[in-house]
Amino acid sequence: MAIERTLSIIKPDAVAKNVIGQIVSRFENAGLKVVAARLTQLSRAEAEGFYAVHAARPFFKDLVDFMISGPVFVQVLEGEGAILKNRDLMGATDPKKAEKGTIRADFAESIDANAVHGSDAAETAAVEIAYFFPALNVYSR
Ligand code: UDP
Repeated sequence: MAIERTLSIIKPDAVAKNVIGQIVSRFENAGLKVVAARLTQLSRAEAEGFYAVHAARPFFKDLVDFMISGPVFVQVLEGEGAILKNRDLMGATDPKKAEKGTIRADFAESIDANAVHGSDAAETAAVEIAYFFPALNVYSR
């Protein structure tokens, strides 16, 4: 399987719970490397831009409000099949439906406050990585 990069966001609920390290450990234990990362407070415009694909959905305003409710930890994960691997580690969007042992099953409260974001395909990964990290700030190794 090819080496890929994917964008991961540890959302405000998980940052507030002080579990950044526990979540990053799951990625590292699964063979993914953090090649770029920063803790940041998103502006409303940044959050709206990031989730533009969901702009017409009924939950859009609540999603943006949530994403700017506190700092988030944005990171680029790299490794074999990183996009699918990250999605598997995350679990289903609704933590009640997420498999036991996944990040969302263990750390998320609800479909709105669901601990993590992960790119869902190669095209979205490229766009989402570029949205937060200019190429110069990515440290492959
Ligand atoms: N979301 C929500 N209510 C819904 C569906 C989605 O609040 O009914 C939020 C949720 O935080 C989710 C995000 O919108 O993570 C993006 O939705 P998507 O379907 O892309 O899920 P994901 O890829 O994050 O699992």
